[in-house]
Amino acid sequence: MYNMNITSYQSQILEKKYLNKDTVCLKLQKPENYSFLPGQFLQIFFIDIKRSYSIFSKPSDETIDLCIKCLEGGKASEIIKNITVEEKITISDPMGHFIINEDDIERTYVATGSGIAPIVSMLRTSLEDYRHKSKIYLLFGIRYEEDIFYIKELEKLSNTYKNFSFDFTLSRPSENWKGNSGRVSAHLPSKITDKKNNQFYLCGSPDMVKDIRKLLIDSDIDMKNIKFEIF
Ligand SMILES: Cc1cc2nc3c(=O)[nH]c(=O)nc-3n(C[C@H](O)[C@H](O)[C@H](O)COP(=O)(O)OP(=O)(O)OC[C@H]3O[C@@H](n4cnc5c(N)ncnc54)[C@H](O)[C@@H]3O)c2cc1C
Repeated sequence: MYNMNITSYQSQILEKKYLNKDTVCLKLQKPENYSFLPGQFLQIFFIDIKRSYSIFSKPSDETIDLCIKCLEGGKASEIIKNITVEEKITISDPMGHFIINEDDIERTYVATGSGIAPIVSMLRTSLEDYRHKSKIYLLFGIRYEEDIFYIKELEKLSNTYKNFSFDFTLSRPSENWKGNSGRVSAHLPSKITDKKNNQFYLCGSPDMVKDIRKLLIDSDIDMKNIKFEIF
């Protein structure tokens, strides 16, 4: 049924936690010698379908973490909603070219929703493991206030590493919301200080990636400095 050339591994679910009403963090047992680069994704093989998920944890973590948004009526989403700790699932080798290297240059990340998954792996690796010194900025777009997740962890990172800062913005804020609101494309331009020595990483919905790529290209950012992953 599946391409037999793809190596697969059995991995036990160690923890399942809801980050908001429909986003689940799964912690998987890391198979022996399983190594990946920050930003890569893996595939989960369900009985008759397979789906790709970016790796949320960093390579030096002990577990493989995934951050999965369960879509209403989505085939894999319905399985993930019902999956339980201790079950075993089949995963592929890591894959993909949405990755960072160790170059210590300025980085700008833009994520929406579960598009934060590969970016957290990249951020934590750069800051905690590579000891990146250049500026790193993250703009994180979420729809509703009640959907906000991973903010405490980002605050902790920005308090610990002074070269890291982030903002988040709500596209559908309530009347009482006092923070940033609107699409990520409205907030990004004022945050770009260096157009030349800056690598841009975008991850999330097709519309967001399309809008931000256009905005960056129209602002004379070199295309080779723009990397993206579309969910
Ligand atoms: C490289 C890569 C990395 C990814 N990483 C992540 C990640 O880290 N986290 C994450 O959450 N997702 C990620 N994705 C997306 C993920 O792979 C799935 O595509 C997504 O979770 C939806 O899968 P599903 O089987 O639940 O939905 P599907 O069954 O594929 O359905 C997709 C959508 O169509 C709708 N739909 C289905 N059937 C119908 C129908 N008959 N009529 C109308 N609407 C319908 C569903 O409600 C759903 O909204 C990634 C994708 C790629 C390509």
